[in-house]
Amino acid sequence: MSRCLAERSIDHVLLERGEVAHSWRTERWDSLRLLTPNWQSRLPGFSYDGDDPDGYRSLPEVVDFIAGYAKAISAPVRTHTTVTSVRDADAGYLVRTNRGDWRCRTVVLASGACNIARVPSLAARLPASVASLTAQSYRNPAQIAEGGVLIVGASSSGTQIANELQRSRRAVTLSVGEHIRAPRVYRGRDLEWWMDAAGVLDERYDQVDDITRARRVPSLQLAGTPDRSTLDLNVLTDAGVRLVGRLAGVTEDGKAQFAGSLRNMCAMSDLKMRRLLDLIDEWARANGLDHAVEPPDRLPPTRVEEAPPLGMDLVKSGIKTVIWATGYRPDYSWLELPVLDRKGYVTHDGGIVCSPGVYLMGMQFLRRRKSALIDGAGDDARELSAHLAAYLDNAAPRLSA
Ligand SMILES: Cc1cc2nc3c(=O)[nH]c(=O)nc-3n(C[C@H](O)[C@H](O)[C@H](O)COP(=O)(O)OP(=O)(O)OC[C@H]3O[C@@H](n4cnc5c(N)ncnc54)[C@H](O)[C@@H]3O)c2cc1C
Repeated sequence: MSRCLAERSIDHVLLERGEVAHSWRTERWDSLRLLTPNWQSRLPGFSYDGDDPDGYRSLPEVVDFIAGYAKAISAPVRTHTTVTSVRDADAGYLVRTNRGDWRCRTVVLASGACNIARVPSLAARLPASVASLTAQSYRNPAQIAEGGVLIVGASSSGTQIANELQRSRRAVTLSVGEHIRAPRVYRGRDLEWWMDAAGVLDERYDQVDDITRARRVPSLQLAGTPDRSTLDLNVLTDAGVRLVGRLAGVTEDGKAQFAGSLRNMCAMSDLKMRRLLDLIDEWARANGLDHAVEPPDRLPPTRVEEAPPLGMDLVKSGIKTVIWATGYRPDYSWLELPVLDRKGYVTHDGGIVCSPGVYLMGMQFLRRRKSALIDGAGDDARELSAHLAAYLDNAAPRLSA
């Protein structure tokens, strides 16, 4: 957004509570690599020109990449500046920070979609002897007590952490709710390449049937590994991870209760994967690629044991740690504008917020399926900056001197 505003000569400032790329410096586990390939993190005025376009950036590489971009575009960032409130003021907005106040005619909320790890309220019932972490506070196996680990959530964060801990010789149980299975490589190309080429990631928010539902869809079960291998529930089962259903409750005496829907959840996930790959095959045929790429090769169905356990005494089963990989949410505790819905999310129409001159970035399916990816920011910023510029030209009241 900063780059797009600069192109339009719109005077602006970026207020950042930490360093540039703060979330990548402080809120991710050590071994994380982007699940999007290098070529895919395109930003306005930037595309990848290194020698490993199909690789996946490690955490330090992501930090360098974002900090390098900020420097290359001379982004006017004020670091260590925490916004403590944004409220209506004469002719615009008053932004309070720990380093003084700002008045502005427009505000872009780009504070991230994943500020807080979402943890179900039943976490409060865990026995005192069981440690509780989230995908945001987990760093590496050395942090985890010897013994069993229950990981709740089987999307990209949960499956990656389960894989790492099982391979560090912890006994991992993975509680599986709704998830979307995906092969890393399909017909010789990265799944992200197919989704990009076939236009899946460009699908617009005003073209899908149920945008509320589309914004809640969990992340694809993908991981970025140097060998470009698929990480799905079958791989985890082969590594020794035990699969159980969605965590439905924890009893007073510390027994975890799992839903009986594991088989169904996995069948649904296999079905969604098949539909995505069918769409890709169809696109390949229609675009003359069918014979230029490898033939279709589908993964076998997800294996689920005959009668997965419906309950588990956490202490007796040796569970020492529970890791919540149950998603993230934004934090708007500082936003004093009447723009939040009852769940605390900003109400918007493709990033245009109902308070005049306020815009939103970086949310799930904000304007396109790819909006919450690094690669999605550019298109959204181009369109929203155009709206913002028109607002400044035509509608925005002027600040008094
Ligand atoms: C585990 C995980 C893995 C991911 N993997 C990928 C991936 O492989 N590929 C991909 O494209 N995307 C991935 N994403 C999504 C990724 O987070 C986004 O693509 C990208 O970081 C979004 O950038 P952003 O600037 O919108 O939000 P953020 O990176 O969250 O940045 C928001 C910034 O706002 C600052 N901030 C927040 N509140 C305040 C305040 N009150 N005052 C001042 N500053 C504030 C924060 O410090 C932060 O620096 C992943 C996300 C997670 C959680």
